[in-house]
Amino acid sequence: MSTGSVGIIGGGLIGLATAYRLAQAGVDVSVYERDAQLGGLAGTAHLDGIPVDRYYHVVLPTDDRVRGLAAEVGLGDEAFRFRTTRVGFYQQGRLTSMSSARELLTFPGLSAVDRVRLAAFAARCQLKPAYADLDDLSLEEWLRRVCGADLWDRLWRPLLDSKFDGRYDDLPATYLWARTRRMSATRDRAAREVMGTIEGGYQVLIDALAREIRALGGQVHTSTPVLQVPAAGGRALGVVLADGLRRHDWVVTTQLRPALQALLAPELEAVLGPDPNRYLGVVCVVARLRRSISPYYALNITDRRIPLTTVVETTHVIDPQRAGGTLLYVPKYVAPDNPDLERSAADVRREYLGHVRTMFPQLRDADVLATHVARASVAEPIHVLGARRPQPADLFPAAGLATASSAHIYPELVNGQAVLGVAEQLTAGLLERVGGHGARERAA
Ligand SMILES: Cc1cc2nc3c(=O)[nH]c(=O)nc-3n(C[C@H](O)[C@H](O)[C@H](O)COP(=O)(O)OP(=O)(O)OC[C@H]3O[C@@H](n4cnc5c(N)ncnc54)[C@H](O)[C@@H]3O)c2cc1C
Repeated sequence: MSTGSVGIIGGGLIGLATAYRLAQAGVDVSVYERDAQLGGLAGTAHLDGIPVDRYYHVVLPTDDRVRGLAAEVGLGDEAFRFRTTRVGFYQQGRLTSMSSARELLTFPGLSAVDRVRLAAFAARCQLKPAYADLDDLSLEEWLRRVCGADLWDRLWRPLLDSKFDGRYDDLPATYLWARTRRMSATRDRAAREVMGTIEGGYQVLIDALAREIRALGGQVHTSTPVLQVPAAGGRALGVVLADGLRRHDWVVTTQLRPALQALLAPELEAVLGPDPNRYLGVVCVVARLRRSISPYYALNITDRRIPLTTVVETTHVIDPQRAGGTLLYVPKYVAPDNPDLERSAADVRREYLGHVRTMFPQLRDADVLATHVARASVAEPIHVLGARRPQPADLFPAAGLATASSAHIYPELVNGQAVLGVAEQLTAGLLERVGGHGARERAA
């Protein structure tokens, strides 16, 4: 039998996956989501009334946690759509494909030696199972040593510049090792990337989880911001909502650390200690177009006259009919003080689509059917060189309080697969503390 109640702040993937497992174990669980819609970063935007992913989201064939959880809530393999995709580069004012092993070995703009070095680098990451020796090594130093100065200047430096808003000096080599391993594992025999989507977007999984939680007796509240987590004697007491305190034996936060300052009572915030990470935000123009403009799912931009992170035409994977046309995502990862987070949506849209037009001159104003500008000032944690790495015990920093977020993921990259791993760890720890059917068996 359940021995305690759990209040979870945030109806994103971590919050809902954890609530689902707790509800299955008979725990009295309530999710509080401030927005009218569930999903958080994996949620939905509306383009002229048609729901689309707010940010581009793929599922890789190797994302077994996502596929397993989806199958449990009734979304089997038929709910997924996988496609072989092409990857492009925009370099020195030209678009080039690098979508297969053959294209890598004939890639223009790189010397024959550098092409071989690049292929060897990917193989090296795949074959290297452990990362301890990379964690104290600067990414730039590693890349210069392994790939050479030319490949660093022509490829890696501009790519890191575009992904990290100009600041990559404090990144450990582990970052690119983990990224290369994840992407290499999704390639087919011809080294073409295979990407997938849940038909209807991650929102379909989110909604199915919410439905199951409610069916199991849990509560999921939307438009319900938590104002504070109060404490007494070092213990979290519950959540303060607009209409007062709801007591819980355990409160779970699922936000990144910068949001916890306002949320947690000072005595709870104090036990967290200094934050070892920095963060990136994201600004993303989503456009529905009359027709496809890019043959690539994703575009790597090494020509830094274009200050975007990438251009992603998700309808190379998503069914364009379902999306009401071609869906183009034009994102820029930004430092939390980047002015694009505050500029008017019209300005951002004009500038970002202007850059797209420079790369794809065939794009006409009349091709753009609808747009939306999505922004988050804190979207992704950056684990910097020399900083403390996340430990399992960090999930339970104080009596009655669990803090779980994508900052607990390391060394994997932040994505749905990895955040579900955090949710699994969190659930196991909560069940040991709260009880629930099967908790004793699990602990044994
Ligand atoms: C641009 C971009 C592209 C991405 N692409 C992919 C991809 O292709 N594949 C993939 O697997 N993953 C991708 N991800 C990552 C994925 O979206 C995240 O890892 C995941 O959604 C994080 O879930 P979460 O629950 O940790 O956090 P969040 O989604 O941030 O959820 C936290 C929730 O807490 C709520 N909240 C905040 N404050 C309060 C409060 N005071 N009271 C109540 N509720 C509150 C928020 O509204 C939010 O719903 C991408 C992310 C971004 C930004």
